[in-house]
Order: sequence, then structure tokens, then C-alpha cells
Amino acid sequence: MVATVIVGMLCVHLLCFGGMFLLIGARLQGKKLGMDAFAVGNLLLGSAYVLQLLGGPPGWNLMSVVNHTLTLCAPAVYWVGAMRFFDRPAPLWRPLIALALAYSALQVLVQWTMGPVARYAMLSGLSALAFLAMVVTVIYGVRSFAKDLRVEMVLFAILIGGICALNAAKLVNVLSGGLAALDMGNRFQMVFYIYMSFLATVLAPSIIWLVLRRLTDDLRAMAARDPLTQLLNRRGLTEGLEAHFRSRNAGPVHLLVVDIDHFKRINDTWGHEVGDTVLRHVADVLREAARKGDLACRVGGEEFVIVCRDTDSAGAMRLAERMRAAIEQHAVPTGGGRDPIRCTATIGVSHGFISGHGFDRAMQEADAALYQGKAAGRNRVVQSTESAPAATRAKGSLSMA
Ligand code: GH3
Ligand code: MG
Ligand code: MG
Repeated sequence: MVATVIVGMLCVHLLCFGGMFLLIGARLQGKKLGMDAFAVGNLLLGSAYVLQLLGGPPGWNLMSVVNHTLTLCAPAVYWVGAMRFFDRPAPLWRPLIALALAYSALQVLVQWTMGPVARYAMLSGLSALAFLAMVVTVIYGVRSFAKDLRVEMVLFAILIGGICALNAAKLVNVLSGGLAALDMGNRFQMVFYIYMSFLATVLAPSIIWLVLRRLTDDLRAMAARDPLTQLLNRRGLTEGLEAHFRSRNAGPVHLLVVDIDHFKRINDTWGHEVGDTVLRHVADVLREAARKGDLACRVGGEEFVIVCRDTDSAGAMRLAERMRAAIEQHAVPTGGGRDPIRCTATIGVSHGFISGHGFDRAMQEADAALYQGKAAGRNRVVQSTESAPAATRAKGSLSMA
């Protein structure tokens, strides 16, 4: 009776969360993060336990064959969901149907040739192997594709490892005790069902938490990037600088304000779309020329800011000159049989500053230097001529217009 209640609750959990995964997957549209596969996995496993409740004691009938097939397919489908969550393309339906047909046929074969105990033992053995494969994948993920979810993955490995061990123990029980070992009321089966219930209760919200985390991370990253060039935007610039000045050994920062020369002419002559191509191209050149640790940002129409970290004024000037020369040298292919476009940029360089408080002033300095460069004929690098500010070690939040 108690076992029936536990398995009943397990069915409710699996089916309800399966439905919820389906809804979340539908809401996510293009990038479903594996929610569609997790939903199918839950529905398969939930249906298998419903069949177990309806089917009564272990035996040879259609319900039992379908139950075993659904039970074995579920971990495979969860595995597909995990792959999809980590952006690894993994097909679902064809392999699932093939696995279901193959396993149903195998059950018939094993039942005929070796009897019912072998069929039940096969399910426990293969389930243990399937969960073991999941544990290995999760452990591999901690070291490769899921490095940012280390704690969550270790927890998953432990929880899935538990069900793997229980299936292995069930295999031993069946081989030694026959079908009597599968009686729903016996102690081991109770432990098995309680653990499954615990797993279904803990894993489903954990998966939702992972999806929520991935979505909010993506949103945060998107909010910090300019969609046209994928460089940081103003928000990304602020956050990057704040992170820099929070670090213990933060060195001085110089700002390079890069403005494409006569960009309006490019737009007027070639059209806005080609103008956008030029912006993307200049962004690529800046990204490539920047050193590791520098921040490349697009802060306005054809205006970029490079945050040049941990160098002196001479180093910042060298970087600016390298960027100017690279923009001048790289022609922009525009397609459609047209000649590539060449463009130049003028760059203003600020003095170094050592805390968030220096940002506004550095922007003004770099802007003023840029203005001088434009007035002097463009396509040049100009260092701020304003007197260097007194260094201040006070650290504070950045204020950006
Ligand atoms: P200067 O050499 O003095 O910098 O002249 P300029 O023509 O580059 O500067 P101006 O500020 O007069 O023109 C900037 C132009 O950039 C005007 C605006 O239409 C264009 N622009 C702003 N944002 C975008 C964008 O996202 N895409 C495209 N294609 N053009 C943009
Ligand atoms: Mg311009
Ligand atoms: Mg401009």
C-alpha cells in the first residue's frame, strides 16, 4: 500500500514536471535548452510507472514490455536533453523510436530464450549502464563544456550515481532472488521507489534552475553587448571597468576614443547597409588589434572606446597607432562586385587613471584629443594635452552619461 502511494506520487511528479518542461520549452522557442527532451524523458518515465501501477506483479504481458521499453528509453532521452542544454546538437525522435523498437524486440528474444528473470535483470543492468554513462558524461562536462556549472554538475553526478548504484543492486537481487525480489512491498523496492521519488522531486527544479541561470546569464551578456558588432556597449564598458578596479592589483587605465572619419559620406554614398558592414569590419579590426585584457566597446554610431589596461601612456599610444594603421590598411569588402571600401579613423588618447572616479575626466580628455585630431586633418592619433590629473587611489563606482 505504502509502495503504491510512493509510486503514485512519483508518477504525479514526473508527469507534472514533464508538462512544465514542455511549457517552458514551448516558451523558449528557438533555443529550447533541452527542455523538450527533458519533458519527453519525464513523460516516458512517468508513463512507465503508471503502467507498473496498472500492471500488477511482474509478469509477461504487453504492458510490462512497454513499461520496460519506456523505462530504458527515459535515461537515453535525458542524456539528449543534457547534450542540447550544453548546445551540443543531439537528435531525439529517430534514435528514440529505433531504441524503443530494438529493445522491445530484444525483450521478446530474451523472454523466449532465457525466461522472465533474465528480462527483468536485463532492464536493471542496462538502466545501471545508462545512468553510469550519464554520470561519466556529467563528470566529463565538469572538466570541459560545463565548467561554469561545476557545483551543479557534481551534485547531478552524485544523485544520478545513486540511481545507477540502486539499479546495479536490483540486478544482483533479481539474479539471486528471482522475480520475488521485485515485489513492490519488499524493503529494497521501497528504498528504490523512495530514492526515485526524491530524485524526481530534486532534479526537476534543479533543471529549471539551470535553465533560469543560463537564460539570465545570456540576458546579462546580451545587455552588455552591441548587437551590430558584438563589442561591449556602454553598460559592458562600465561593468568591465568596475571589475578591473575591484581587482587588487588594478593598474592604470587609458581610454582610446576611436571615431571613423567621414562616416556620414560612406553612408550617403553606399547606403546604410554598407555603413553597417564598415562598422562591423572596424569592430573586427579593433578586436584583433586589442591586447588580451583590453576592452573594446562601441559607445555610439561610429564611435568606439578601447579601455587599455595596465600600461603607461607610451603603451597606450602604441596601441592606438597600431589600431589606426590597421583600420587604414584593411579594405572593407562590400560584395556585389563592388570595389572594397577604405576608411580611416582618428583616435584620441586620455591620460591614465586609476579608479572609477577618473572615468568621466578621461572620456573628456580623449574626446578633446579626438576633436584636435579631426581639426588637424583626421587619420591620426592624438594624445590629450590637458595636464595629467593628480592620481587618486580612492576607488568608487563609475558614473557614465
Ligand atoms: P567625422 O570625420 O567628423 O567624424 O565625420 P562623420 O561623418 O564620421 O561624423 P558624423 O557625426 O557627421 O556622422 C556620423 C554618422 O554615423 C551619422 C549617422 O547617420 C551614422 N550612423 C550612426 N549610427 C549608425 C549605424 O548604426 N549604422 C550606420 N550605417 N550609420 C550610423
Ligand atoms: Mg566620424
Ligand atoms: Mg562621431
